[in-house]
Amino acid sequence: MTSTSHSQLGDVLVLGLGRTGESAARHLASLVPSRVSSVTLYGGADSRPGERSRALELAGVSVVTGTEAVEGSYDLAVASPGIPLDSAFLRSAAACSRELVGEVELAFRESPERWVAITGTNGKTTTTSLTTHLMREAGIAARSVGNIGTPPTEALADRGEGEWFVAELSSFQLATTERLRPRAAVLLNVTPDHLEWHHTMEAYAAAKERAFANMGAGDLAVVSVDDAWCRSVAARCEGRGLRTCELSVEREPDSACAAFLRRGALVVRLDGVEHTLLDRSDLKIFGLHNAQNALAAASVALELGASPERVRDGLASFSPIEHRIEPAGEVGGVRYVNDSKATNTDSVEKALTAFDAGTVVVLLGGHDKMTDLSSLADAACARCRVAVCFGEAGPRIACALERARDASGASLEVLRAPHLREAFDAAARAARPGETVLLSPACSSFDEFANMAERGRLFKELVRRLGEGA
Ligand code: ADP
Repeated sequence: MTSTSHSQLGDVLVLGLGRTGESAARHLASLVPSRVSSVTLYGGADSRPGERSRALELAGVSVVTGTEAVEGSYDLAVASPGIPLDSAFLRSAAACSRELVGEVELAFRESPERWVAITGTNGKTTTTSLTTHLMREAGIAARSVGNIGTPPTEALADRGEGEWFVAELSSFQLATTERLRPRAAVLLNVTPDHLEWHHTMEAYAAAKERAFANMGAGDLAVVSVDDAWCRSVAARCEGRGLRTCELSVEREPDSACAAFLRRGALVVRLDGVEHTLLDRSDLKIFGLHNAQNALAAASVALELGASPERVRDGLASFSPIEHRIEPAGEVGGVRYVNDSKATNTDSVEKALTAFDAGTVVVLLGGHDKMTDLSSLADAACARCRVAVCFGEAGPRIACALERARDASGASLEVLRAPHLREAFDAAARAARPGETVLLSPACSSFDEFANMAERGRLFKELVRRLGEGA
């Protein structure tokens, strides 16, 4: 492990009994007694003693479950993402701690060199994996951490000499950072999501902007200029004199650092030096949004020393990640595509651009987040031939689509089904050869499934059975 800041941490409190809380507590327990005096973990109101808490106790952690009323006195509290900043749990912890930070901040303080931060409402996981892939292809040691799966405190234990952490950071994780200073950071987009956690768009956008707060001379901020929230972040970064790579799939920025499309080719310009990488059509990840993700990842990889040739090869070899516009097979001339990860309306609107207009049978529905549907409805009318609406949100989406269709004179056919299975059958019956059945539901999955991955797997299983004629 490479670490520079070996401060005394004292009595430390950890909040949350998920994988993040567990890895933070394990890391801290490994520092007892030299730098940490004690580690206490509060699991929260819904937590119960179990295998995880028992294993932690064996590692020397005091575990308290079933309550959010924190007692005692601590030098540092470390929060897991997902616990809202204004929750009683966090407030109770803050009241008895000298300082409260998130798990990402703890990992950064422990090992602050060579971090890349990737954030945005949509596209984080794709861009994080692609950045790591490009760096590795170029012979630069790199590992994806954060929201993508491995908590950074878990990755500290065997962090290789010279290894980069490419951190996918959610707004929750960023909201509890303080000293985090990545060498390069990416902001892909800011569109409404997670307002139940942050309450306002301002607070949500401000959390994302924290990725850049401590960056300075020599660092690189890669910021989209294609939406208004991001444009103002880019302007503030530039105003501070930060090297800012303006990221756009809509136009060619004229700044010294920029990443954009020129006649379909991906171009990255760093300090005035241009690299034309490859044509968009040579990517295996489809849609304009994925060109944006590829441009962001390529900018970071080039900035950190990857050669343009290696970046080109890496971009060409990168395949879609599971559940993200993932090809799921072809039956009877109909393509099936699993985009179960599209859990908000913006990601569906982007996904629809990856297919020819009028050739899509889209499956929409799931747990209703009560978001505004007007822009999604317009996009569906413009690009889909059929929409099958299912699940808890199905009726509301179907009504919104019918309203938009009747207002615009579009010919979208709107079907209703109770659950994903029935929706799939209706879509398969409706689809014609040459068309695409796309699961890109615009909703989370919790009304019917444990998570979006389970939903995506059922979709793929239904495609497989259809192919077998079962
Ligand atoms: P995240 O990790 O931010 O949720 P993912 O890379 O997992 O993002 O992609 C989730 C979904 O969001 C994809 O299935 C796609 O529909 C959409 N998406 C991906 N990249 C972008 C982007 N740059 N802009 C808008 N939507 C995107």
